[in-house]
Amino acid sequence: MYINGQWIETGATFESLNPADGSVVGTVQDGGAEQARQAVTAAQEAFAGWAGSTAYQRSALLERVYQLMLERRQPLAELLTREQGKPLKAARGEVAAAADAVRWCAEEAKRVYGETIPSARSNHRFIVNRHPVGVAAAITPWNFPISMVTRKLAPALAAGCTAVLKPAEATPLCARALFEIFDEAGFPPGVVNLVTARDPGPVGEVFCTDRRVRKLSFTGSTAVGKHLASACAPQLKRLSLELGGHAPFIVFEDADPVQAAKGLGLLKFANSGQTCISPNRIFVHRAVMQPFMEALSQRMAKLRVGNGLEDGINLGPLINRAAVEKVQAQVEDALGKGAELKQGGEVLDEGNLGRGHFYAPTLLAGIDPDMRIYREETFGPVAPILAFDDEEQVLAMANDTDYGLAAYCYTRDLGRAMRMFEGLEFGMVGINDIDPTAAAAPFGGVKESGLGREGGREGIQEYLETRVGGFAIG
Ligand code: NAP
Repeated sequence: MYINGQWIETGATFESLNPADGSVVGTVQDGGAEQARQAVTAAQEAFAGWAGSTAYQRSALLERVYQLMLERRQPLAELLTREQGKPLKAARGEVAAAADAVRWCAEEAKRVYGETIPSARSNHRFIVNRHPVGVAAAITPWNFPISMVTRKLAPALAAGCTAVLKPAEATPLCARALFEIFDEAGFPPGVVNLVTARDPGPVGEVFCTDRRVRKLSFTGSTAVGKHLASACAPQLKRLSLELGGHAPFIVFEDADPVQAAKGLGLLKFANSGQTCISPNRIFVHRAVMQPFMEALSQRMAKLRVGNGLEDGINLGPLINRAAVEKVQAQVEDALGKGAELKQGGEVLDEGNLGRGHFYAPTLLAGIDPDMRIYREETFGPVAPILAFDDEEQVLAMANDTDYGLAAYCYTRDLGRAMRMFEGLEFGMVGINDIDPTAAAAPFGGVKESGLGREGGREGIQEYLETRVGGFAIG
């Protein structure tokens, strides 16, 4: 753990395991409420100095983090693959995206402007300023263990907040490697702190109930997000919640079905389906179903599953046994209710794969709304396909979910593209596009997919308070 500029030991430790083979990747300190409070104290004491530093000073330190991340891109990516499982190429991509978020915030730190507002009184002026909210606590998940951390810490630090991070239990080493970079970059003690823990409860409790923590930013499941929101409610603590998703992916009859199948294949199986913006209901117009399925099956047949450190692997393991069981249960439920298994549908445990948590890329047709997979986030490599007949029907079905994170639509009709963009109740919509995300673009969901945005100008605003000054000038 890293508290007040020092590496801290508690005496208790826990292991981080490689999901591809069960080997121990490393050992980390097991913290709890006491260390969380120490970290909050350090962050609180460092706040006035950090908030009083210039945007240029903060920017220079973040720029240094960016440079160090790029220099260490390969070792960081290898650690990420060993700890989380995604193929090395994807891990390198995540490190680059994570570093980019830091650079973007380093630049944006200098553009946190105020404004003046015309007053109705001639002897009066209004000035609006933005102030950092104070100590920001962050809780991150395991599926993007490097980029989720920089997407929270970089805007917080750029805005002038000090921060305390608790990373996921499954991926603490990635967070530790990033904190080695923060340490080397030379942030003042207490500005950025790390508490690792096997049990997230006590640390989360401190983040929610300690009045010195003025903001909580959480990425993870909707269930835990709701729990944290209610724990923060008595203090009306500021919250950003990046929660679960259940993305529709719509292929219209005027789209190129082969191009759409390519997009779906790349998007659905990225990170073995363990992404919040992964398509979970794939609606294909009946007129293009056959060429779409053919192209998708051909692509899927070429996917190679295995240890992400090996060359040519497209899908790594799922994070743990429970994740494999959840995927298998959803597939069995769908098959039991009449879905058709086109490909995969099994746990992969032959040979070396048996030491890890692997599931075959799976294609299911004939999905209907009674099946669990139609409602629940899968977080695994399963593509559930539904046929549709018209635009109005598919829009209603796409919106028939409590989630509202990402949605995708393939069409060559400009009017339809615009109607979909405006009609889909989701925070991010890809039109013939499988990656509507970037450091410069606001990322986040509506409905039960969350509150607030990460990235873009909006991402820094989450860590700022607006204050207005009224000046009577005589
Ligand atoms: P999770 O179980 O909710 O865990 C997320 C984080 O919360 C972990 O650090 C976890 O710690 C911690 N946590 C769990 N219970 C807690 C509590 N009572 N108090 C404080 N912290 C607590 O989610 P996950 O399985 O790691 O991540 C997958 C979910 O994240 C999916 O639903 C996915 O859609 C969502 N996600 C959303 C986005 C987005 O931007 N919207 C991005 C990525 C992932 P432990 O690991 O130690 O349990």
